[in-house]
Amino acid sequence: MTHLYSAIPSLRLPSPLIPFTPPWEGATRVEIMVKRDDAIHPIISGNKWRKLKYALGNLPTGTQSIVSFGGGHSNHLHALGYVCCQLNIPFYSIVRGNYLGNETPMLKDLALWGSHILYVDKKTYQQRHSKDYLAQLTRRYPKSVVIPEGGSQADALKGVGEMVKEVSEPFDRIMAPVASGATLAGIALALKSNQQALGIAVLKGEEYLESLVSQFIPPSLTHWQIDHRFHCGGYAKKTAELTTFCEAFNHQMPFCIEPVYSGKVFFALKQLLAANAFCEGERIVIVHTGGLQGARTA
Ligand SMILES: *Cc1c(COP(=O)(O)O)cnc(C)c1O
Repeated sequence: MTHLYSAIPSLRLPSPLIPFTPPWEGATRVEIMVKRDDAIHPIISGNKWRKLKYALGNLPTGTQSIVSFGGGHSNHLHALGYVCCQLNIPFYSIVRGNYLGNETPMLKDLALWGSHILYVDKKTYQQRHSKDYLAQLTRRYPKSVVIPEGGSQADALKGVGEMVKEVSEPFDRIMAPVASGATLAGIALALKSNQQALGIAVLKGEEYLESLVSQFIPPSLTHWQIDHRFHCGGYAKKTAELTTFCEAFNHQMPFCIEPVYSGKVFFALKQLLAANAFCEGERIVIVHTGGLQGARTA
């Protein structure tokens, strides 16, 4: 772990916890704080640091490369590519789709950091959890460590739990986006029994997202739930309303959001406040999971 911290010296930890008082209907009835994990590092975005910390801090001796998966805008590949560059470990990123000649800003960064980018079709990408495919990768890249998409594996939960433990003020509810579910699972595991976790689904996946979270935590833990009303059509999809909301937010507020993750969470918060969905005086923590790099167009 020491090696990891010396390779990335500028981490801002604990991340800031700031009061948030938007001029929105219903906002004065509750107390809102934002856990600024987006401020941890300019490149290793938010929850990706939390999720990768233990995997990268405990690499088996003799590890010769890292392999992982993601889309063309992936915050996970971006964070991991940067860390591997800093640690001087070869990184093989398996990317869904073919962006040759049409690289996104994220892929351009990966190339700058010396990552090996391997484009695969949808069918190959779908095998990313299959035992046979993973064994094949380990044969192709001997002594490699394969990290699942999004960094979502059991040891990610511990890092996410540390984020919850950093919150120095008492709170009743904590809200975060849900994609692969590891972040919400890590939060739920770290809560006290009188606290609630509310996940905002960023993709269409009623029941599916619940099953992803459940695979990581004991069934006896029930103080978490997912609201499926704010995905705006699916993963990375947006409505005109969400776009307008994010633009106005970024003009008015002291920090920025993007439409794939944090934008949907704050958009949900605004609507839940207006609908009186919280108790009077409730103390709510919103986790800003970062991800602003993914919204870049150049
Ligand atoms: C990856 C990511 C998420 C999703 O976290 P999961 O653990 O996969 O649910 C949320 N926010 C941002 C900014 C991300 O990059």
